[in-house]
Amino acid sequence: MHEYAQRVFSELQKKNAGESEFLQSVEEVFDSITSVLDADPKLESFRILERMTIPERIISFQVPWIDRNGDIQVNTGYRVQFNSALGPYKGGLRFASSVNLSVLKFLGFEQTFKNSLTTLPMGGGKGGSDFDPRGRTDVEVMNFCNAFMRELYRHIGPDVDVPAGDLGVGAREIGYLFGQYKRLSHSFHGVLTGKGLGWGGSLGRAEATGAGAVYFVEHMLSRKNENIAGKRIVISGFGNVAWGVALKATSLGAKVVAFSGPDGYILDEAGMTPEKVAYMAELRSSGKDIAAPYAEKFAGSKFFASRKVWEVPCDIAMPCAIQNELNGDDAATLAANGVKMVAEVSNMGCTPEAAHLFRDKGIAFAPGKAVNAGGVAVSGLEMSQNAAHGYWSAAEVDAKLRTIMSDIHSACVAAGDWDYVAGANIAGFRKVAAAMIAQGV
Ligand code: GLU
Repeated sequence: MHEYAQRVFSELQKKNAGESEFLQSVEEVFDSITSVLDADPKLESFRILERMTIPERIISFQVPWIDRNGDIQVNTGYRVQFNSALGPYKGGLRFASSVNLSVLKFLGFEQTFKNSLTTLPMGGGKGGSDFDPRGRTDVEVMNFCNAFMRELYRHIGPDVDVPAGDLGVGAREIGYLFGQYKRLSHSFHGVLTGKGLGWGGSLGRAEATGAGAVYFVEHMLSRKNENIAGKRIVISGFGNVAWGVALKATSLGAKVVAFSGPDGYILDEAGMTPEKVAYMAELRSSGKDIAAPYAEKFAGSKFFASRKVWEVPCDIAMPCAIQNELNGDDAATLAANGVKMVAEVSNMGCTPEAAHLFRDKGIAFAPGKAVNAGGVAVSGLEMSQNAAHGYWSAAEVDAKLRTIMSDIHSACVAAGDWDYVAGANIAGFRKVAAAMIAQGV
């Protein structure tokens, strides 16, 4: 690590003790930018690293709401407005019991570089709550969303901060949040993305994260003169992101042979089909949070309870669930089984040990902030459509997404060659830093 980065990082460790996810994400970026810091002394005199690691603003608030029994429940809501150098704060809301400030700061920090890579004018932000929608009724989720937005609405706006979905926040939650924003602000504009089709949502947004990730993998493969058809792919998770990956990869002839839920994983040697992919999504949205029934429905597939999906041999592994879901041991297993490529689709899905192991073994590894940027990119396209009071066709959105993913891939390669972690960090960082310097203090 560069001496300036080391100094800032040590200070950060003291002031953010215990925020392990946040520190992990900062360390990864700082480890990548030594050559950039060497080349430009202004980065230090403008205190860019300090200013990039302290969120511009953190909003934290109480969310009291009424449950189905008429009892009062209380959660904590947050919005971390991390960096606005490139545009309005932009990033999702996560509703999960594991949400805390460390997690949201890591996600907001990552989002800043990810959004920079998209080529679109978006700053970085993230928010959410320790509320878990699983097992809650629709009315409870609506009550919670209304209460959450009752405070959040005053801090966001189409040119200020534009939240979207993330874990636990899908089309239903965005609908309730949008309705409440509209009532409180007496205005109808694109203040959230991931909206429903017909009331401001963009075609292609639901699929965008997964589709974009597969386009990124196609670019990685083409550097090896290979293509995705016939490749064995293993994914983790079975939510929106896993669904998008399975859908796109399957449509391009790849064989998605395994996915996972919190209860274990499904092995389907025959490979997934569109019907199977749709059923996987249905299982996730049932609210029961179990993958096991897939094996009862589709003959030939098997369920492995409480085991990690990374023991399944594959050509390409694509973690699609949550941060740090793939550790050093998992990486060693994948490598021993001959994995050729790992594309992180979840944010920081691999631990540092896993990422290092892939690099040391010469296994192509690309980080979430580049691979999954298609999701927020199409959110950016949704903002453009809302601002222009119109809609684009699915083909237009897809063409733009393909161009964006190709540009992100090229930027990573230009800055890092086969080291996609360094490439993404350097390319993302440079643009944010240049804007911060230009905008003064
Ligand atoms: N939560 C997604 C992400 O991690 C999407 C954010 C957005 O669309 O604003 O990038």
